[in-house]
Amino acid sequence: MCTTCGCGQNETRIEDAHDHAHVHADGTVHSHPHDQAGEHGHSHDHDHAHAHEHRHADGTVHSHPHDHADEHGRGHEHGHHDHRHQDLHYGLGPAGAHAPGASQARMVQIEQDILGKNDALAAANRKRLVERGIFAVNLVSSPGSGKTMLLVKTVEALKGRHEVVVIEGDQETSYDADRIRATGARALQINTGKGCHLDAEMVGKAIERLAPPAGAVLMIENVGNLVCPAGFDLGEAHKVVVLSVTEGDDKPLKYPDMFRRSSLMLLNKIDLLPHVDFDVAKCVASARRVNPGIRVIEVSATKGQGMDEWLGWIEQGAEGARTPRDESIGALKARLAGLEAQVAELRSKLT
Ligand code: MG
Repeated sequence: MCTTCGCGQNETRIEDAHDHAHVHADGTVHSHPHDQAGEHGHSHDHDHAHAHEHRHADGTVHSHPHDHADEHGRGHEHGHHDHRHQDLHYGLGPAGAHAPGASQARMVQIEQDILGKNDALAAANRKRLVERGIFAVNLVSSPGSGKTMLLVKTVEALKGRHEVVVIEGDQETSYDADRIRATGARALQINTGKGCHLDAEMVGKAIERLAPPAGAVLMIENVGNLVCPAGFDLGEAHKVVVLSVTEGDDKPLKYPDMFRRSSLMLLNKIDLLPHVDFDVAKCVASARRVNPGIRVIEVSATKGQGMDEWLGWIEQGAEGARTPRDESIGALKARLAGLEAQVAELRSKLT
């Protein structure tokens, strides 16, 4: 979870926003004043000592005091003990993560502060979208899963039936927004700089700027990253995780948060299955292990397989969004179930 590092704070640029330095396509750079002191959130000049928990193959857990005089992540030495493996587990404390120089309590506090603010802004986005009958989808995946191609084909296929408006998130460039705009659809690029995810504030500003009409479909392509975007609600109706068969079929188990929080997994590039070592059944079983309710659609955005099912899913969502009362109750119930799961997860970590 990137709330531990505060990456990319105040680095965001939204197209035409003119908040920060700009690098243009021709390489020229110019900047606008802003009140940021610098790119680093904080520093510590003192050493820390705390215990790290270890989980052994037989399920037993114990901890060792650990001196943090040196850089983290360089390995921990425990000479007095025979471990059955050399794995390092940084996700066992209450924060579920690790940041050099920060205690678990401090990290939990930072995460609660950031996510609390984000959730409030996401709720405002959701209210605005629901009131206007706009169906919003947050597409998440690793880089290279084919999200943008999938969106291009989706926008083209829905032309004349639904107005699709797109928000693109990438660290730099407007390449993806340009690809969407080439189809005739409206798109806005958000550049996150050093940031590795979109947040609700960025998306709220982009919605203001794009002003999607009532009843539109809003597709948000998140920054390619299977970790941090899982933690940030943008106000969408659904997260949809895209996994291509050129990646590992064990991704759902390696990055469970993302699959747990997604309503739908699109298994993309299935036309390449004869050429790659990817076990579809194993992948689907893994996804259902972390999220029993996840729906799966196998697609090839370039060759067209499965696209009708995906388009049907969007059209059903769009229709539901246009009957605001039913949809808002459904969305609230879904959100409540998600929050209850998060609370249960946090509780289990704190005990
Ligand atoms: Mg893309």
